[in-house]
Amino acid sequence: MTFETLGLHTSILRAIADTGYTTPTAVQEQAVPAAIAGRDLLVSSQTGSGKTAAFMLPALHKFAAAADDLTVTAGKTPNQERQAARARGDRPRFQAAKPKMLVLTPTRELALQVTTATDKYSAYSRRVKAVSILGGMPYPKQMQLLSRNPEILVATPGRLIDHMESGKIDFSELEILVLDEADRMLDMGFIDDIEKIVAATPETRQTMLFSATLDGVVGSMARRITKDPMIIQI
Ligand code: AMP
Repeated sequence: MTFETLGLHTSILRAIADTGYTTPTAVQEQAVPAAIAGRDLLVSSQTGSGKTAAFMLPALHKFAAAADDLTVTAGKTPNQERQAARARGDRPRFQAAKPKMLVLTPTRELALQVTTATDKYSAYSRRVKAVSILGGMPYPKQMQLLSRNPEILVATPGRLIDHMESGKIDFSELEILVLDEADRMLDMGFIDDIEKIVAATPETRQTMLFSATLDGVVGSMARRITKDPMIIQI
């Protein structure tokens, strides 16, 4: 099995070639084609299994395919509209960020790792920016990051709720939701925050949940927030 046979967009294949990965890991082999096809996923896998690429590569593939379509049909993207408004001098008015993808992680460290990996995998993706929203990061810095309207947000739940409740983030255009290390997020007491965040996203979203275990509380939450998920046990 190769990354080409997984059906990924050429811009993603170029980025993977730069990382030096030659073959997909077991979780990538199963998750990537299913996610490209639009399936929700419940994945039981460990750190080190290559799970970050398992959810990020198909997401970037979908954004690249959509960007190709947009180039064909012309018209301005929301960020191009913002740039045009800035050029006209229509400013300053804060517009809520409208991300297309949200990755929730239990810790700052994991969020930063996911963002760094995303930057690598999206090196040749047009119009894709990923930013981390983390507890402990100064608000002005975060406001500046959000004002660039990133397509991908990687966040710990608590800080994200603060920005949601103060109207800085609007999830009405969210297409993909990922819960990374969901069992650890529940162990850390984030269940209410997660429920609130999920409730603010569209029903039409694609959901991918990764966890060491899919039993008990995490299993019941996983089934509540996904639709006809493909279950992958590595
Ligand atoms: P993760 O499980 O996402 O934290 O990934 C663990 C490590 O494996 C990271 O250092 C990745 O860069 C690396 N990795 C992910 N996918 C592959 C692959 N297909 N081949 C080689 N290394 C990989």
